[in-house]
Amino acid sequence: MTKQSTRNPLLTGMVSVAALLLVSCGEQGSGSSDGDMAAGQDNSVEAIHERVITLDTHVDIHEDMTFDPVYDPGTDTQQQVDLGKMEAGGLDSAFFIVYVGQDVRTPEGYAMAEVKARRKFSAIHRMTEHYPDRIGFANTPDEFDAIAASGRKVAAIGIENGYVIGKNLALIEEYYNMGARYMTLAHNGHNDICDSSGPSARLGDAEEEHGGVSEFGYQVIDEMNRVGMMVDISHVSIKCMLQATEYSKAPVIASHSGVWELSKHRRNLNDEQLKAVGAANGVVQIVGLDDFVKYYPAKQAELDALRADVAMAAGDADWDSGKHAASEQYKAGMEVLDAKYPPATVKDFVDHIDHAVKLIGIDHVGIVSDFDGGGGIQGWDSAAETMNVTAELVARGYSEEDIAKIWSGNTLALWRRVDAVAAGL
Ligand SMILES: [Zn+2]
Repeated sequence: MTKQSTRNPLLTGMVSVAALLLVSCGEQGSGSSDGDMAAGQDNSVEAIHERVITLDTHVDIHEDMTFDPVYDPGTDTQQQVDLGKMEAGGLDSAFFIVYVGQDVRTPEGYAMAEVKARRKFSAIHRMTEHYPDRIGFANTPDEFDAIAASGRKVAAIGIENGYVIGKNLALIEEYYNMGARYMTLAHNGHNDICDSSGPSARLGDAEEEHGGVSEFGYQVIDEMNRVGMMVDISHVSIKCMLQATEYSKAPVIASHSGVWELSKHRRNLNDEQLKAVGAANGVVQIVGLDDFVKYYPAKQAELDALRADVAMAAGDADWDSGKHAASEQYKAGMEVLDAKYPPATVKDFVDHIDHAVKLIGIDHVGIVSDFDGGGGIQGWDSAAETMNVTAELVARGYSEEDIAKIWSGNTLALWRRVDAVAAGL
């Protein structure tokens, strides 16, 4: 679908003249029903980026968003995403994230996780209630399409970490009713649902706790299928990921992951996992997070050592980025590290997209930033730079139809498939 055009009338007029000329020359495609492919259309990167609906499936938020002027999305914030940056960069929509970090699995821990989750739900709804002319909230794919067609930005909600339900299955439907349309089964650290790809040393995790999905975890997946919440298999262990993907009655989403074959980070998906998502008719959202796109196993230890040195030179026991990151010693050290381990670029990022598309097909791959949650790469480090991704896809020969699928069509189609499964249960 296309959205309301904001191009200037002069340009639109020129396009129409060009279209007429082509028609008169008999060169128009034979009865194409796809308006996007009309002859004589402006096919510059800017025009394609303007026409396709761009969707970022993982943007973190602060719980004080809108309350605290520092996190007011209607102003020019220090965040990677705010409404102005979305408008400037042509980022049309996002799943804003109710993220709660893994903590202790006690009644008190569950209660606190629920409190934190509710604060973030409120923050996201405050944004759309506060700026109704600029962004609308979508509960369904049809609402999503309607808001996008009106020219406004679209907000949806994803939950990151099933820890927020504790042991209470009823919270899944409650969170659904608050707008959540996907939930990542686990985050860093195992929870009651399944094993994480990153066990937590602080919480005393063994490498594996459940051998994948727990008994409770299967009930969680059943309930998510029933209410129509997408099962997100990013962040979880390989076994959990494969078991959940096979078990779920609805196709799964990987809301923010990379390609293991290109970068050996434990958060990335290997080819077997990618194929499993494709075979299940799911979607893998490829994430523009530097460490996942270009992982250097030795880099973290060197970075930790540099930070320890800088902290020690300042007379402190521990690294404090607010206090130490501006020091000349740190900047010089980072220059050396960046030269040794070049940061990920948009080209490196699109290599991951290419790999996934070649392996599992154009209908099963999407784009995500993880902005304000660790995401960002050189060239796509805020919503304002979103067009650079489209430019690289165009440069690699992706058609507009394919770009539209990768940017949002695939995820919206998945959302509809998940709704259809729920309706049939
Ligand atoms: Zn994450």
